[in-house]
Amino acid sequence: MSKASVIAIDGPAASGKSTVSSMLAERLGYRFVDTGQMYRALTWEAIRRGMDVNDEKSLTELAKVTGIEIGANSAGCVTVNGRDITTEIQTDAVDRNVSPVSKVPGVRKVLVEKQRAIAKGGRIVMAGRDIGTNVLPNAELKVYLDVSLEEQARRRHYDVIQRGEEADYDTILAELKRRDEIDSKRAANPLRPAEDAVHIDTDRLNAEGVVSEILRIVERT
Ligand code: C5P
Repeated sequence: MSKASVIAIDGPAASGKSTVSSMLAERLGYRFVDTGQMYRALTWEAIRRGMDVNDEKSLTELAKVTGIEIGANSAGCVTVNGRDITTEIQTDAVDRNVSPVSKVPGVRKVLVEKQRAIAKGGRIVMAGRDIGTNVLPNAELKVYLDVSLEEQARRRHYDVIQRGEEADYDTILAELKRRDEIDSKRAANPLRPAEDAVHIDTDRLNAEGVVSEILRIVERT
């Protein structure tokens, strides 16, 4: 059998999905797509327009007319209607509002279609919440990254400090908990492991360790 060409990586916030997926894609010579960036980009645009993030109808319309591109200028960059907003989508305001925006079924429909179109050519590692269960249910390899809430908060706290910003561990932990709760309890494509996903406990491994474990599995597919 040939090596898995479509790899789905799912897991909660701060489970290391993006780091692990981009390292994995680089090793395999595949494209890496972080679908969280698309939901973040739309949320950023909604905030910029001063929209109500609970207005499902307007958000669905916005999703339809907003040009969101991943990797248009360089690998890992995100643009909205041609404007590079790669760093802007990592702010607290986007963190706080992205889950309400992402639970809107009409928004998901538009973005999931885009994600499926991107994955069509294969040789891709796609990371998110519903990739194995909904976006690419036929992915040859599905990985679900498990992580404890304390480890999630420790990682995010470290990232924020590294960026030279103020960070309070307890606030970060509460915010991650809230976001994962909304993501896993929503009706449309909730955060959930696919039945055939391989689980990796990331609490006991660093990113390199997780990538090595996935590569071992890829070699067996
Ligand atoms: O992965 P990241 O933390 O950047 O994702 C931001 C948010 O985007 C998630 O909390 C979730 O609400 C949403 N998301 C989603 N489905 C995906 C990827 C992300 O709903 N496939």
